[in-house]
Amino acid sequence: MIDAVIVGAGFSGLYMLHRLRQLGISARVFEAGDDLGGTWYWNRYPGARCDVESMQYSYSFCDDLQQEWHWSERYASQPEILRYLNHVADRFDLRKDIRFKTRVTAAIFDETLSCWEVHLDRGDRVLARFCIMATGSLSIPKIPDIKGLDSFKGDVYHTGQWPHEAVHFNDRRVAVIGTGSSGIQTIPVIAQQAAHVYVFQRTPNFSIPAYNVPLDVDYEQSWKSNYAERRRHAQESSRIAIAAEGTIRNISALEATPEERLQEYEKRWKIGGLVFLYAFNDLAINNEANKTAADFVGSKIRATVSDAAIAEPLVPRDHPIGTKRLCVDSHYYETYNRDNVTLISLRNENIQEITPTGIQTKNKTYDVDIIVFATGFDAMTGAVLKIDIRGRAGRTLREKWTEGPRTYLGLMTAAFPNLFIITGPGSPSVLTNMVVSIEQHVEWIAECLHHLRTHHLDSIEATVEAEDAWVEHVNDAANATLYPMANSWYVGANIPGKPRVFLPYIGGFALYRKKCEEVVSRGYEGFRLAKCS
Ligand code: FAD
Ligand code: NAP
Repeated sequence: MIDAVIVGAGFSGLYMLHRLRQLGISARVFEAGDDLGGTWYWNRYPGARCDVESMQYSYSFCDDLQQEWHWSERYASQPEILRYLNHVADRFDLRKDIRFKTRVTAAIFDETLSCWEVHLDRGDRVLARFCIMATGSLSIPKIPDIKGLDSFKGDVYHTGQWPHEAVHFNDRRVAVIGTGSSGIQTIPVIAQQAAHVYVFQRTPNFSIPAYNVPLDVDYEQSWKSNYAERRRHAQESSRIAIAAEGTIRNISALEATPEERLQEYEKRWKIGGLVFLYAFNDLAINNEANKTAADFVGSKIRATVSDAAIAEPLVPRDHPIGTKRLCVDSHYYETYNRDNVTLISLRNENIQEITPTGIQTKNKTYDVDIIVFATGFDAMTGAVLKIDIRGRAGRTLREKWTEGPRTYLGLMTAAFPNLFIITGPGSPSVLTNMVVSIEQHVEWIAECLHHLRTHHLDSIEATVEAEDAWVEHVNDAANATLYPMANSWYVGANIPGKPRVFLPYIGGFALYRKKCEEVVSRGYEGFRLAKCS
């Protein structure tokens, strides 16, 4: 029996393996893909890049690593992030303990031995004391069930499952369905190549310019000279695990004068990126305050898109800004000024079916050669629930989570001992710079396994009481904000039949981190630690 099975070889799985090895804990990683990288292995669509600055969207655990790596752009592209993860794997010699092309299909807890029997799609099984899900929050792509899709004679792609060979758009008519972060990143790039792009938009999203540029040498150096302090700031003092001067201003948008507000929004619009949302302290909790920011972005859309008839349907009206993941783009709105781009608002003409030659809406048939689905993921619970996980008394996780996920700290779930989820539901995860959240979870889990070993213990399990209290706290935190108002993937609204539950913890990363540390210092409060009988 090995100590730990780790499922997934993205940012989470790679660091988990490295950390356990450092502690002398044996581990094997199983990865469904042909190679490592997770998100950055699968999402190869044109225009894919991070929306947290590269200097921060990277591991902090090894100073030599962060000093030696050079990012070429403010926001690194998918190929560069993938190169970085490969560098990390080589540098720490990780590949030898990763089995690729291997999907974990089931994990069954053996109560007598206090260990997990992990089933692989190749037919074999592995016994491990601990099972660690590093399966990703956004790793199960969702293609909507549209009548006639199978009949389409052209090429079909999903952004989250992009082929490894180059996709040629030249002289081709392309439909892009979906205008979330992926659609907004890929549409401008495809439009530069394709004969025509038809964008099928169900809900317009708010997007802020990235102003992506080659990384300035002085800027890079200022980060490298101050990494320790800035990383500490991101880890210990930030709600979103991002270090940025004056990220969140402690001023209400409603107390500021209209001129002050405009000045602040203009300033942040010029900086670009996610910091826009933190201009005032009440944008996430007060609809009136939020509307001042939403109106500002609406005015920018109208100023950018020259045809008012195209600009208007691009202006979001049905959700407060930020309550769906804010998008960060490169020339997205400008793209609608091109002659070869047509916006189809599905509010006016919904898709009725896909025909062998294109997409038919209520009003018209659009003949296309390629359909790109930028339709998102079964987020946060999809990958874990795809595995048949059985805990105490053979109870399945799917059964336990029928009405929504229940976890303690987003790390463990009661009645499933020794099963950890990295950035699981109920943790800040997708509301933060994910690499920081991943490092925090990996380090917490590694320390926990080390603690169990040094105290000659075999198992750890969340108590039902601690879990209930945490779930209530996660819900209360969400309900104190505007976030639950939006039909977003944060509440599972993009997946038909998924229970409407706010999935991540919105109480803030720094606070959450402190809570996790307190739990440990109080002897793993809320967990039951035991020796195998
Ligand atoms: P993943 O990278 O998703 O890796 C999980 C791996 O587990 C996958 O390779 C998958 O194949 C494997 N797996 C799943 N189930 C099984 C199974 N049953 N058996 C075997 N293997 C399995 N976050 C940010 O903070 N900033 C960003 O700028 C940002 N940009 C993003 C851009 C895109 C296009 C997407 C989709 C997400 C982005 N994210 C971003 C979120 C991103 O997912 C995380 O930042 C991070 O990469 C997650 O790493 P992970 O290792 O936890 O999960
Ligand atoms: P997403 O945000 O869920 O967006 C999916 C889009 O597809 C939405 O516009 C949605 O419309 C639309 N859609 C879904 N089903 C549809 C249907 N049946 N018909 C028409 N439209 C449909 O997915 P995503 O863009 O892949 O992004 C997911 C997350 O990944 C992001 O929120 C972000 O966290 C991460 N990401 C980050 C970056 C980055 O900038 N670094 C890039 C990509 C992804 P509705 O809104 O109406 O549902």
